[in-house]
Amino acid sequence: MNTKQIDNEFVAHSYGRLPLEIVSGKGSLCYDENGKEYIDLGSGIAVNTFGFSDAEWVEAVKAQLDAYAHTSNYYYTSPCAKLAQMLCEATGMKKVFFSNSGGEANECMIKAARRYSFQKYGKGRHTIITLKNSFHGRTITTLSATGQDSFHTEFDPFTEGFVYAEANNFDDVVRLTEENNVCGIMMEVVQGEGGVYVLTKEFVEKVAALCNDKDILLMIDEVQTGNGRTGELYGYMNYNVQPDIISTAKGLGGGLPIGATMFGEKCKDTYTPGSHGSTFGGNPISAAAACNVFSRLTPELLEGVKQRNEIIVNALKDLDGVEEISGMGLMLGIKCKKEAKEIMLGCLEKGLLVLTAKDKVRLLPPLNIDIETLNKGLNILTEVISR
Ligand SMILES: *Cc1c(COP(=O)(O)O)cnc(C)c1O
Repeated sequence: MNTKQIDNEFVAHSYGRLPLEIVSGKGSLCYDENGKEYIDLGSGIAVNTFGFSDAEWVEAVKAQLDAYAHTSNYYYTSPCAKLAQMLCEATGMKKVFFSNSGGEANECMIKAARRYSFQKYGKGRHTIITLKNSFHGRTITTLSATGQDSFHTEFDPFTEGFVYAEANNFDDVVRLTEENNVCGIMMEVVQGEGGVYVLTKEFVEKVAALCNDKDILLMIDEVQTGNGRTGELYGYMNYNVQPDIISTAKGLGGGLPIGATMFGEKCKDTYTPGSHGSTFGGNPISAAAACNVFSRLTPELLEGVKQRNEIIVNALKDLDGVEEISGMGLMLGIKCKKEAKEIMLGCLEKGLLVLTAKDKVRLLPPLNIDIETLNKGLNILTEVISR
């Protein structure tokens, strides 16, 4: 049996796989088993920050592999400590907890919000407001936080304590804070899985002010929007707000699994020894990979993200088949006249990898994709959209 047959037989069918096996990759290009080349504008869903097998990243990972791969959290390790310091210095946050995925980073964020409120106000002030159309993960609790019914089918019962406000509707948030005993408001500033839907400046800043007034924690899910994706280091930096807790994952490790939850002044000491943990959290290999990625998210790199955004938007905005473009930086959603899935399959055939989100084509290219490759990819996309 070939890979596709073995996979179909033995891997749980939780993914609708596309008919492509990737066997190697370099930068923004990858190859299938027949040597056919693909331009990758999806980055493994915003994970491969510098594309496939980036030379500097590979060096950093190999050096750590040669030193040691794992130990337990009973001991100090340098990549984990260094990464935490870098994250705090860049964001003004005070402490970091490391895990292995976005879902886990969000679990940690939710637990911290509940504990902060419990320690200060006692039992019962535990409701978290999230937004309709959000996505926060696949664990039972992060599914509970996710404001989309389509993810909930047949997994009842869920963790209680979540209520959902309409995105960009501040009055709805106010109403929910009045009707519930709220400890936190959790949101993505650009709803990725929800169709690359951008929260307005007015909404985010009003919510932040409300949080500040009522000692409600502002919890920003930067799993997809983080680590340079929107053209700022973190998505919230496009707004005039300072979160109390930030979760991130996806692009942080540049291809290795790592999640991080960062705590501001209010809840920097909410977790005490033994109150939370993760066997692999802060794993030296993943942390070394993340140190490499994070140290390269320079102002010049971020400027390049904005530049590439303009190239993409300019190439697509006046096309007949394009109805709307949303997003920020290199996180873009394109609503087309044709179905997103049809466009994705058309692109695949022509050697271009794009993603979808709801009814949109979604682009999440490597942050350093070279302009020539990007333009080649956009030519294919334009052709598929227009034909
Ligand atoms: C992908 C994603 C998650 C879940 O991350 P996993 O690593 O798959 O657990 C959570 N929140 C947002 C905003 C995401 O995009």
